[in-house]
Amino acid sequence: MNDPIAEPSVTVCAVRETASGEQRVALVPESVPVLARAQVSVLVESGAGAAACFPDGAYERAGAEVVSRDEAIDRADVVVSVGTPGPDLTARLRAGQAVIGLLRPLVEPDLVRQLAEAGVTAISLDGLPRTLSRAQYMDALTSQANVAGYKAVLIAADNFGRFFPMLITAAGTSRPASVLVLGAGVAGLQAMGTARRLGAMVTGYDIRPETRDQIESVGAKFLKLESVASAAGEGGYARALTAEEQSAQQAELAAQIARFDAVIATAQVPGRRPPLLVTAEAVKGMQAGSVLVDLAASSLGGNIEGSVADQTVMTENGVRIIGAGNLPAQVPTAASTAYSHNIVALLAELIRDGALTIDPADEIQAGVVVTHQGTVIHPAVAALLGPSA
Ligand code: NAD
Repeated sequence: MNDPIAEPSVTVCAVRETASGEQRVALVPESVPVLARAQVSVLVESGAGAAACFPDGAYERAGAEVVSRDEAIDRADVVVSVGTPGPDLTARLRAGQAVIGLLRPLVEPDLVRQLAEAGVTAISLDGLPRTLSRAQYMDALTSQANVAGYKAVLIAADNFGRFFPMLITAAGTSRPASVLVLGAGVAGLQAMGTARRLGAMVTGYDIRPETRDQIESVGAKFLKLESVASAAGEGGYARALTAEEQSAQQAELAAQIARFDAVIATAQVPGRRPPLLVTAEAVKGMQAGSVLVDLAASSLGGNIEGSVADQTVMTENGVRIIGAGNLPAQVPTAASTAYSHNIVALLAELIRDGALTIDPADEIQAGVVVTHQGTVIHPAVAALLGPSA
């Protein structure tokens, strides 16, 4: 890995993302010389970085070869992507090739089946054991959640008819906005810090009591609810609430929410539909002009009743409910740069003696390698797909 004069032995390609609205790219130019030092040569599909403000010339100056999509895929040992590969890419991948990305294997079983049948090694960053210290450089869920939390606050501020900070001018004084952030994971804590930096009065809430210190450390006030004392689950995540706990939590939150100008909801429970925290009744109690941004909004529902991903819903009482879509894609340069660093760290882990080396006994690889040599080797994904996998 460290021999600077050795010939490149692994070829990696970054292709243009094809999902609607996706502006990120999996490798940025500054990663190219880092990979070259690790004996990895880089091919980039022409235009792959354009939407993230990385033109072809920047890759070429960094030492990458800019080629057509087909040539990039055909010559690469490893194809790196941000999201799931689209049908054209999936169909073109061949046995022995690897694809690395946020592949969402637990929600894309057909893709996993197809990759396994084609003999492609599928490596998905969403399975990374995030608490392992050597895995932190590869943690794309964290790097992208950070971007999402930041962008959610900008969207809330942009859709709010007043200022976030207190402003004292000759034309009058405006009080600071009151912002409530629900969920204090990576995105939530970033949202709290960002809203503080914009000058808002920020309150944070999470169902895991240990988040109190983290919420206070970013300058926010901790909102303590009496109804559910703790719902800490495994590995630093929350557990799903019982139906009784959930309705008690909703009722208590409803009584609090009316005093906030903006609510940013980021609560998730791994493998479950997002918890409904803010009911339509609670939204009815808010002032006209208030804004809610739901980072959990998806086809499975969200944290806020009535939110729709990628859409803004205006309620009868003049409150905007914004269903966030793919927020990291809306900050493409920063999000791509962070993601690219995660990919480089993962490649450094996977390439041993100049070749991509799959070792399911390794703790990191056990989490990220989904298919290899025609088989679904990730236990949780294999269990989901059943015996035919
Ligand atoms: P996540 O996206 O799964 O969830 C966001 C937050 O929602 C969590 O804090 C969760 O407690 C909260 N939540 C769930 N249900 C809720 C409810 N009903 N009411 C209120 N809040 C609710 O979280 P994440 O950002 O992926 O982070 C999860 C955990 O993993 C955190 O403890 C985080 O510190 C930890 N983490 C650790 C590392 C590391 O060790 N390097 C890296 C990343 C994340």
